[in-house]
Parts: sequence; structure tokens; C-alpha cells
Amino acid sequence: MQFHGYQDLRSKLLSHELTCEQVISDYLQRIDTHRDDNIFTAVFHDAAMARARELDAKLQRGETPGRLFGMPIAIKDNISMKGAPLGCASRILQGYESVYDATAIIRMEAEDAIFVGRTNMDEFAMGSSNENSAIGPVPNPFDKTRVPGGSSGGSAAAVANDLAMVALGSDTGGSVRQPAGFCNIVGLKPTYGRISRYGLVAFASSFDQIGLLAANCDDAALVLGVIAGKDEHDATSSHHDVPEYDTTMDHVSLEGLRIGVPRAFFPESLNTDVAGVVKAGLKKLEDAGAELVAIDLPESDYAIAAYYILVTAEASSNLARFDGARYGYRSPDSPDLSSMYVNSRTEGFGAEVKRRIMLGTYVLSAGYYDTYYKKAQQVRRVFQDRYREAFEKVDVIFGPTSPFPPFGIGDKMDNPLEMYLADVFTVPASIVGMPAISVPVGMDSLSLPVGVHLICNFFEEGKMLGIARHLQTLCQAVPSN
Ligand code: GLN
Repeated sequence: MQFHGYQDLRSKLLSHELTCEQVISDYLQRIDTHRDDNIFTAVFHDAAMARARELDAKLQRGETPGRLFGMPIAIKDNISMKGAPLGCASRILQGYESVYDATAIIRMEAEDAIFVGRTNMDEFAMGSSNENSAIGPVPNPFDKTRVPGGSSGGSAAAVANDLAMVALGSDTGGSVRQPAGFCNIVGLKPTYGRISRYGLVAFASSFDQIGLLAANCDDAALVLGVIAGKDEHDATSSHHDVPEYDTTMDHVSLEGLRIGVPRAFFPESLNTDVAGVVKAGLKKLEDAGAELVAIDLPESDYAIAAYYILVTAEASSNLARFDGARYGYRSPDSPDLSSMYVNSRTEGFGAEVKRRIMLGTYVLSAGYYDTYYKKAQQVRRVFQDRYREAFEKVDVIFGPTSPFPPFGIGDKMDNPLEMYLADVFTVPASIVGMPAISVPVGMDSLSLPVGVHLICNFFEEGKMLGIARHLQTLCQAVPSN
């Protein structure tokens, strides 16, 4: 079974051409054939089938189907679902089950979505390749020797292999957008505060957002409309009205659209293949009537440094709660309280998580706070000012999602700094809190996916999705050779 997006599936369900049971059983079978790919940390065979039958009965009774009726959805392993394991792909959460539902889960469930399973990720969402996972890497759907990106690598591979129609991920500095780019799908990070973080395990709270991975912009928009909006459980969630995203998208025209092209997003070092495909996408937007505006974002070089200081600082504090006393794993070698803390954390956390806790503790320590943490906060403010200024001149900011195509499994594991550079183009939107999206635009010379990254002003998800949909259509219409 294959569908042209959710509306196709929905019309087949509502016209009784197919049942939810048939659809879900098909998805679950496909998930099973991909078992060796390590994409899921848990598959809900029984619960998903039971839910499908329940929804079929609901339709039979003539009740109104919800907005996500029968949509098969995968959830990243750091978003709480009551009664399901919550592991963050970490040994330290081994055996832990969520005791409550994330707000996003409650809202999707209320609209009749069906959850098929939980997806693999970099431990605590720290990484760009899904290799920092206690349960091992995930192969890229286009070349099994390469990474799918990260940290939401399992969610991206699930959608790209059609094992779920939409997946939830989390994005702190690019973790939805970069894997979407590597797996040839759409990845959306909303404005900070647009989606409640209640139930999302915190990595860096002032950056974290739940994001969406989907095959197309319409499906992403539909789910965003369901889960966005104020939530009394998350004080940082926004009161801003949730618009009808499909209507907003329909009104977006490329004619006269001002596309900001920062020089800093096309450095000499940019992979030439990536540059070629991305620029071809830009040309198509221009041919369709958009106006290209060269802009300067001279501070871009400081994005990675500021990001890694700020997020490690927040992570060192957020991850203090995993101490062997309250959740999951406790070292069997715990003769006294302090060795229980030390040994549980030493054995429970992986290398990258430990590196970040140490780095974060260091930048917050007396004597270094002013030099590093405070400076990075000041850089964050400068970025916010520069991006606000830029959006006085342009409607959208355009660039590549990643500076290079999907890389080989193992290639960057010994070089954390090189791994951090994978996020050089995605991190700025997270620093400023603006919405951003990765759109598939074509393949490089090795037939590996290339993504374009678009940033819009605060709460302009509808407009951004509309532009992204135009771009995706233009790039599909003409073969990339
Ligand atoms: N790759 C980035 C990091 O390791 C982004 C992670 C994320 O967005 N969760 O921090």
C-alpha cells in the first residue's frame, strides 16, 4: 500500500475502500521487514492494531472522524507516552516507563492518530548521526553504509522508509531538519514556544522544540495545526493563535517573494555537489518569480561556538536528575550513596553525553562563567537582533541544510568538532528561536539526498510551509540531472 500523502489515505478510509486495520497491519508488516535497520526502539503491534479496530468501529457508528483519523505515527524515544518505555536511547533510562503523556501525544490521540512505535535517536538528542545511541546506529535509507543524520535519525528513517506517515522528533540545534535533509523528507522545527514541551525530555530547555518529519509539507502542516498552541503545563508555550495552516499555505505566492541569501551560508568550504543542487533549487524559485536578496549575517561564524556553550550549560543542569535514585538504571556496584551516583552515571551515560555534562559544568563554573557562558548569551542576543533586521528586508532566509551529504557510519565518531559542524546552518534558527524547515530538493552525484533550509520570522510557519511546498513541487517536477 502506498499513499500520496495523508489526504489520499484519509479519503480511502472515509469511503470504506480501506480500513484502519488493513492500513496499520500493512505498516506493521513493513516495520517488521526493516527490523535489522534498528529504526524503532519499540513497536506497538498489539496496541496499534487494537486502536485501528477501535477507530474502524467509530467510523461504522457514524461518529465524526478526527483530523488525523488513522494516520500512522512514530514517536522519538524522548517524548513521553504513558505506559510505554522512555529510553532516550540511553542506558541510564533502561527499564523506565513514562508515567504520563506528552501534550503533543494527547492532542494527536484526540484526533484519532495511531502510534506505531518509538524511534531510535542519539542519546538524549545529542548528536548529528544517530551513532550516539545505546542501541546502535541506523542505516541511511539511500545508502546503508551511511548515517541517517541525527539526533532524530530513527524518526527520519521511519518516514523515509514509509514505516510511519509522520514522525515526531525533537530539535535543539537541527535534530529534525538535518536528518530530514539526509533522508530526503521534510523536517520542520517550529518557533520556540509554538509546540508545548510538556513530556519532552529536556536537553537544552531554551532551545528544545518538538518538530515534525513528514514526506510532504501538507502532512507536516496538518499535524502542526493539531499539536501547536498554548498549554498550561508548559509556561514557555505561546498564546499566539494557531492559524489554519492549509489556508495560509494556499495564499503563499512566489511572485515577488523576497528570498534572503546570506553569503555566510555559501562558504568556500561548502561541498560542491551540495552547493550545486541547492543553487539549482534557488534558481527555480527565482524563475518562478521570487526576488533574490543578498544579505549579510557576519556573525554566522560564531553560531556553533555559542550554541555548544549554551546547550552544554543547560544540559549539565537538566541531566543532573539522572542519578540512579529516581529513574531507570542504578549501578549494581553501589556500596554507598556517593558511589551510587558516580557509578550509575559513569555506567549509564555514553561518551558524548559525558563530554557535554563536563563542558557545560565547566562553562558555568565560577571564573569561567563570564568568559564563556555570559559571552555566548551576548552572542545569542546579537543573533536575535541581526535576524530581526534581516526580516525587515526579506520574507525568508535560504541556505543548505547541511554543509555535506550523508557521511559514512563511523567517519566522524572520533572527531566531535567535525560532527558539531554538521549543524552549522541549522543552529542559527535555534539560537534565535525562529521557525525553520528542511525541504528535499534533489540528489547529489552519488544519489544521496540534499536538503534546502528555510528560516522565517517568528510564528510564520504557515508562510514557510507554503514556500517549502512550492520549492518541493518545483524540484520534483524537473529531474535533477
Ligand atoms: N546535532 C546537534 C547537537 O548535537 C543538535 C541536536 C539536537 O537538535 N537535538 O546538539
